Amino acid sequence: MALDASAREVLAEACRIIAHAGLAEDVLGHVSLRTDDGIAVRCRGPHESGLLFTEPADIHEVVPERALGGGYKAPNELPIHAEVLAARPEAHAVVHAHAPAVIAADLAGVALLPAVGAYNIPAMRMAAEGIPTYPRSLLINTAELGREVASALGAAPALVLRGHGIVTVGATVEQAVVRALNVEILARMLVSASALGPVSYTVTEADMAMMPDLGSGFNDGFVWNYQRARLRHAGLAVR
Ligand SMILES: [Zn+2]
Repeated sequence: MALDASAREVLAEACRIIAHAGLAEDVLGHVSLRTDDGIAVRCRGPHESGLLFTEPADIHEVVPERALGGGYKAPNELPIHAEVLAARPEAHAVVHAHAPAVIAADLAGVALLPAVGAYNIPAMRMAAEGIPTYPRSLLINTAELGREVASALGAAPALVLRGHGIVTVGATVEQAVVRALNVEILARMLVSASALGPVSYTVTEADMAMMPDLGSGFNDGFVWNYQRARLRHAGLAVR
């Protein structure tokens, strides 16, 4: 696809949504989308004000050997997006965020188990399939490290970066963002429960099998619309 005005807007909204939901504290984190020529990604320019205030003008198409202009710079961790998109042809969008509950859970050795069911069915399914962990806490600023991250992600929808954050992929920006939100929601629940006592419960396979797949319109579309409404309500809508 080409990077048009509406793609810029969706990517800017995606950045605002993950920041507003508490997955990005200040200026760190980015969302990207595969384009015909390269990668459209949230960049930093001379007026950088943090992820929560991302403007469509902060979204640039990064193409090898083409300058960005306007004083903008691609993220240091662009290799996360470049290598994950290269390794996952079916994925078109990548979210990288410093999701605090995911980091806390991993550091405390709290496994992201499928311990919730109807509370958040997509999170349960991701956990049941396994959310892998990349065990290094480095800034992923080289192609080699990017390839390590992509290989740790494998075919999963989400990856924990120890002492760092998460990476999620999606067929769409909306799906990648909602997956990131869901992993953080699951981690938040497990961190709270683990503070009260050890958690080993997992939803039974029989019950998992009985729970419906409500479809991406419900799982991603409705949540995306809700998150956009939250931005509007807070006076943070793009436009
Ligand atoms: Zn990072």
